[in-house]
Amino acid sequence: MVDVVPVPDPALVVLVGASGSGKSTWASSRYRTAEIVSSDALRGVVGSGEHDLDASADAFALLEQVVAARLGRRLTVVVDTVGTDPARRRRWLAAAHEAGLPAVAVVLDTPAGVCRSRNAARDRPVPARVLDRQLATVAATVGLLDDEGWDSVLVATPDVPTHPGNTPSTGRPTTVAAGTTSRSSGALPEQGAGLRGVVLQLSRFPADVDLLTWLRDVAAATEEAGLAGIALMDHLIQIPQVGRAWDPIPEPWVTLGALAASTTRLHLGTLVTPVTFRAPGITAKAAATLSALTGGRAFVGVGAGWWEREHTAYGLGFPSARERLDALERGIETMKALWAPGTKTYAGRLVSLPETTCYPRPVGELPVVVGGGGDRTLRVAARLGDGCNVLSDDAGLAKVARYLDLVDEAGRDRATVHATVLDLPLLGRDRDDVWSRVERHRGRVAAATFAARHHAGTPGEHADRLAGLAERGVTTAFVAPVGLDGPDDVLALAPLATAFG
Ligand code: GDP
Ligand code: MG
Repeated sequence: MVDVVPVPDPALVVLVGASGSGKSTWASSRYRTAEIVSSDALRGVVGSGEHDLDASADAFALLEQVVAARLGRRLTVVVDTVGTDPARRRRWLAAAHEAGLPAVAVVLDTPAGVCRSRNAARDRPVPARVLDRQLATVAATVGLLDDEGWDSVLVATPDVPTHPGNTPSTGRPTTVAAGTTSRSSGALPEQGAGLRGVVLQLSRFPADVDLLTWLRDVAAATEEAGLAGIALMDHLIQIPQVGRAWDPIPEPWVTLGALAASTTRLHLGTLVTPVTFRAPGITAKAAATLSALTGGRAFVGVGAGWWEREHTAYGLGFPSARERLDALERGIETMKALWAPGTKTYAGRLVSLPETTCYPRPVGELPVVVGGGGDRTLRVAARLGDGCNVLSDDAGLAKVARYLDLVDEAGRDRATVHATVLDLPLLGRDRDDVWSRVERHRGRVAAATFAARHHAGTPGEHADRLAGLAERGVTTAFVAPVGLDGPDDVLALAPLATAFG
C-alpha cells in the first residue's frame, strides 16, 4: 500500500480493524518498532504469548502507559489494537490534543472474507465467533469516528485484488489507498533557471582531509544531485550552532574562487556576508570578480552581522544593531553603484562616490540577497536588494509574504526578486535512519523538538515539504543539512532538486 494522503507526523495514530485486517502490517511498513504499541505484542511480553487472553489486563495497562508517555514527549505513537473501545479512543485522543499533537484514526477497511481467511491461516486463529463480533463492532465503530473529534479519519484500503469500481462510498473519510506515489522524480533538473531551486549551504568543513579535493568532490556531487548552487557561510570562527570554535571555516570569497574552477553550472555565493567584515566596495569587487569567473553565476548574500565574538577576535568593530543596519543599507547601495555600467560619479541617498570604476564588470544579474527577518531588514531587501533570506519555518514564511508585499509597495515586480529561505533539514534514508540521526545530533534538545525544528524525514518527505514552500512564494531554498559530512550526504539531496519545478 502506498499512502496517497500523508498522515501527519508526529501524531497519535489509532488503528481500527479486526484481526487479520492488516493493522500490524500497515504499522510496521510505515513506522519504527518503537513507535508502535500493540496489545498483542504486549500480551507476549507480560503473558505466555500474543494470544494469551489472560494477560490482557496487564498488557492494556502497559499500553496505556506507553501511549501517555510518548504523547507527553510529543512523540508519534501508533496504537495497534482492534480499536473498538470508545472509552479508550476518547482517552487517547484527549491525551494527544493535550500534548498538542494531531490525532488520526486509521480504519483498515479489509473485506470480512479476507480477514476470515487470513485468520484461518494463522497458527493460533481467533475463534470464528470472536472474529465475527470484531467485524461487526469495527463496522459500527466506523460510523462513530466522524463525531469523535479526530483531526482526520483515514481509510486504508488493503492491497488485495481489487475490482473495477472499488471506490470508497460517499460520506466516507479520506482514503489511504493503494495507488501511485504522490511525487515522481528522476527528471533531469532545469538548467539556467538562475538562483531558483535548491542551493546547498556549506557550513561544515573537514579538518583532516585535503580541503581543495573535498570541495571539488562536494561541487561534483552538488551538480550530480541537480542542485542549483553552493552558498558559503561567512564567519571568522565556526559558530556554535554548527560546530566547535576550532573547526575549520575557510574564508568564503577565496573558497568560492576555488569552487568556480570546479563547476561550470552551479551558482556560487555567500549566505551571508556580514557588512561589518569588509568595506562594501571590497565585497563588490570580490563578487564582481566571481561573477566574471563564473560567467554570471555569482550571488551575494549580505547581512548586518550578529556574532560579537568573531568581530572582537579579528580586531573589527561591532557597532549597535541600528548602526549595522545603516551599514547594510549603505553597503548595498555602494555595491549596486559600483556594478552599474560606466565609471560615472554616484550621488545616492546614503552614499556618494566620485567615480564607479569597477572592472571586471559583473556578467548579467548579480543578485544581492539580504539575510534577516527584522522588519527594517525586509524593507531594505525590498527597496535596495534583489531578494530576502529568512528561516523556512512558519514565522519565516509569514516574512516571505511580508517581503513580497513590500516589493509591491516599492513598485517592483515580485516576479523578478528572490524570495529565499534557509532550511536546516535532517535527512535519513528511512524512518529508522531518520530517528537514529535525531538521537545522534539532538544534544540536550528534546527529540520531538529537534525533529520538528529540522523537519526530520526522508528525502521524499523533504521534497514534498519544499514543494509546499514553492507554493507559498519561495523561489529558492538554501539547504544546510544537519550533520552534512561530504559528497554522499550531498547526493542524498537529489530528490529535493526538482521541488521548485
Ligand atoms: P492484524 O491482525 O490486523 O494486525 O493483521 P496483520 O497485519 O497481522 O496481517 C494479517 C495477515 O495479512 C498477514 O499474514 C499479513 O501478511 C497479511 N496482510 C496484511 N496486510 C496485507 C496487504 O496489504 N496485502 C496482502 N496481500 N497481505 C496483507
Ligand atoms: Mg496485529
